Amino acid sequence: MNCVFDFAHYRELIEAAQEGGYRFAHFGDAPVNGSVIMRHDVDLSLDAAMLMAELEAEVEVSATYFLMTESVFYNLDSSEGVAAVARLRELGHRVALHAVYPNAPVDERFDPFVSWHNPEPEFMGTPPAEGQINVMREPWFDPATYRSDSNQDWRHGCPHDELRAGAFPWLQLLTHAEIWAYPGETMGQTMRAMLKIERGRRLEQLRDDRIDLS
Ligand SMILES: [Zn+2]
Ligand SMILES: [Zn+2]
Repeated sequence: MNCVFDFAHYRELIEAAQEGGYRFAHFGDAPVNGSVIMRHDVDLSLDAAMLMAELEAEVEVSATYFLMTESVFYNLDSSEGVAAVARLRELGHRVALHAVYPNAPVDERFDPFVSWHNPEPEFMGTPPAEGQINVMREPWFDPATYRSDSNQDWRHGCPHDELRAGAFPWLQLLTHAEIWAYPGETMGQTMRAMLKIERGRRLEQLRDDRIDLS
């Protein structure tokens, strides 16, 4: 199997988990044997997140999308942001907060789960406000049962073989939609591909905003 970061292989990853006998679970109840918890930190692109969310819904997988309220890349209060949250819920996904430390305001748009953006080791496991749960703490986090595609680098290799073999008792799988939605063999290439597409989208937004582009 060719472990490229694209949606075809993302589907294969989901299929591998299904073949390995895993069930897709959520943050909330403590993970039990055979659970895979799909987590997406949305750092850069709501568009990419929505593509991933639609794909997952097609194969009847529900995930938790951690969205930022303090992103420099997207605005959750824009019409696009409001529509994204509504669509995620409509597709059966969970929506939670991807927070910029130390701000994690309680916000009714989100389930009470928080992941810190670019966490330093000192605060990775710090609990947010009362009533909120940091998903990088026990029982949802254990380095042995956690895999992440951060910066397009699995570190321990793509987990599809281990998933198919049922090798993890349970797994928190963190993936970033941007990495899978845009082509590129490295994070740098993928980001440049994203920016190319983003440029077209920005031009359209300028037109919609009655900017004269002649
Ligand atoms: Zn793979
Ligand atoms: Zn992040």
